[in-house]
Amino acid sequence: MIADKMKSFVAGSSVIRAMFEEGKKMAAVYGKENVYDFSLGNPSLEAPSSVKEAAISILQNTAPNDLHGYPNNAGFEDVREALAQQTNRLHHTNYTKDNFVMTVGAAAAMNIIFKSILNPGDEVIVFAPYFSEYKAYVGNYDGVLVEVQPDITTFQPNMEEFEQKVTAKTKAVIINTPNNPTGVIYSADTLTKIGAILTKKQEEIGHPIYLVSDEPYRELFYGDFDIPFVPDFFPNTFIAYSYSKSLSLPGERIGHVTVHSEADGFDDIVSALTVANRISGFVNAPTLWQKVIPFVMDEKVNIDVYRKNRDDLYNMMIELGYTCVKPDGAFYLFPQSLIPDDKAFCEAAKEFRLLLVPGSSFGCPGHFRMAYCVENATIQNARESLRLLKEKYTKE
Ligand code: PLP
Repeated sequence: MIADKMKSFVAGSSVIRAMFEEGKKMAAVYGKENVYDFSLGNPSLEAPSSVKEAAISILQNTAPNDLHGYPNNAGFEDVREALAQQTNRLHHTNYTKDNFVMTVGAAAAMNIIFKSILNPGDEVIVFAPYFSEYKAYVGNYDGVLVEVQPDITTFQPNMEEFEQKVTAKTKAVIINTPNNPTGVIYSADTLTKIGAILTKKQEEIGHPIYLVSDEPYRELFYGDFDIPFVPDFFPNTFIAYSYSKSLSLPGERIGHVTVHSEADGFDDIVSALTVANRISGFVNAPTLWQKVIPFVMDEKVNIDVYRKNRDDLYNMMIELGYTCVKPDGAFYLFPQSLIPDDKAFCEAAKEFRLLLVPGSSFGCPGHFRMAYCVENATIQNARESLRLLKEKYTKE
């Protein structure tokens, strides 16, 4: 008999993964090229060749005990030092290895952050729509996720509602920019406002509130601008980072937490994160992939491919009459569903061999998500199905 808490996680378990499995079944029946699977954020691009070269060279040239043994639970010191130098170079910080804890991807990064800071009943604010796993990441430590409703015309944060929802119970706020599922990016101005609200509220409430910036898509943006460095806007910041998307390594499970030097209780936090890594059962991030990072940390996949997919899919959807905010980053589109019931809409889409994820999985009903980290041909070939889907609801 499984635990009551697990029952609710299993019941709410990822619609996205269920759809991914369904996609595989449909592909077996209709042929892969005849199923338009926009369900999962699994990068379509290969990791840069330097990743494989670094991994092979490390395997060949590192003494087995240095490579395969347990490292420090926070990660290899030289790897974390390399990350500090990279961040100092890019963002004019003064970081050292102590600002970094290597993790089993961004998912583990978020988990060890919440394990380290949440007491049961503590609230964590999130802006809808948001990555559905946050519910579990916060629920794992008996925190309560508090949603700020979306502004569906821009998907930028609703600052008034946000300010009202920050109370004495608030321990943390999650932001995710570039965003899954909308692809929007928060500007420096938006981050300034979030930082100002949190600074004011901390003073009123009398305890720290932590900003958890979930950044697996940090390198995936398509405009002529820079992604702001979140700790510049609020000192009590953690960054949850991963190489799953920027280097197409989601299965290898490698990422890290960055703790800003001015975060309240810095030393305790770093110790807690390190212990949390161990006692959560992660123990440490995979050693081979830790060692690869210093060799490839300034690389990223060829995002021109995703940019073209974004342009082609967005333009196609607008031409076909769908309503959608143009994404600036990540690899998702989040159009409005053609009926209010987004689950029924995504179910109906299967009739046309389209796999779309209901917006209610992201706390934003009336929408659906399309992951465009796919072959460009999938987008082109999906046109007729997307047209028929639109026609179905235009007729009704
Ligand atoms: N956060 C967001 C917003 C994501 O979209 C994902 C994965 O899709 C994750 C975290 C988890 O990333 P990782 O594979 O690094 O654990």
